[in-house]
Amino acid sequence: MSHDGLFTGNELFRKSYCRAHEKEFLELAKKGQNPKALYIGCSDSRVIPDMMTNSAPGDLFVVRNVGNFVAPYSPSEDFHSTASAIEYAVSILEVKHIIVCGHTQCGAIEAIHDKSELNSEELIHTRKWLTLGEQPKKQAILALGRDADRETLLRLTEKLSVISQIENLLTYPSVKKRVDAEEIQLHGWIYNIATGEVDYYNPETLYFEPLSSLKIEE
Ligand SMILES: [Zn+2]
Repeated sequence: MSHDGLFTGNELFRKSYCRAHEKEFLELAKKGQNPKALYIGCSDSRVIPDMMTNSAPGDLFVVRNVGNFVAPYSPSEDFHSTASAIEYAVSILEVKHIIVCGHTQCGAIEAIHDKSELNSEELIHTRKWLTLGEQPKKQAILALGRDADRETLLRLTEKLSVISQIENLLTYPSVKKRVDAEEIQLHGWIYNIATGEVDYYNPETLYFEPLSSLKIEE
């Protein structure tokens, strides 16, 4: 999209999409939101949650951050934006699903393996934030060895990171309680930027498998 498109796009959106879905939009404004799922994804501009899932407004409650990380639960009164989104989705919106979605060619995962670009003083928060990917990085190196092909190492780290963030989700008492009671299901996804395909983590086979092969009650 050109820069011009960015600023004139809203008019096009109103005239086309909004007009075609006028009734649904009014309904959403009147009744409020009742999303099916909390989606935790990467800020990467190439990964568009609503587009990849063919979702409509009101379907997904979304929080995106660099690397689709979930910091372990901390009861400290700080500015925890992802934790706040989790709390709101779980306790107020009562979502039934939480999706952690990683993706191929993730810059955050690359930066964890090659920290040289993080040396700037201006990246103080990013350096700290990316430490949430240290454990999956170590696991990937341990599994593949030091001489592993770089792309293979990155793809594995992306997958292991999604699993690691799901483990972090379970440190939130409100999430753990509802998962144990089978009120919430957790999902780990990897979105392929080149093909649009999503693979999901199957904890029974321990593999990432095509999402199209998963049957689930919504
Ligand atoms: Zn990313």
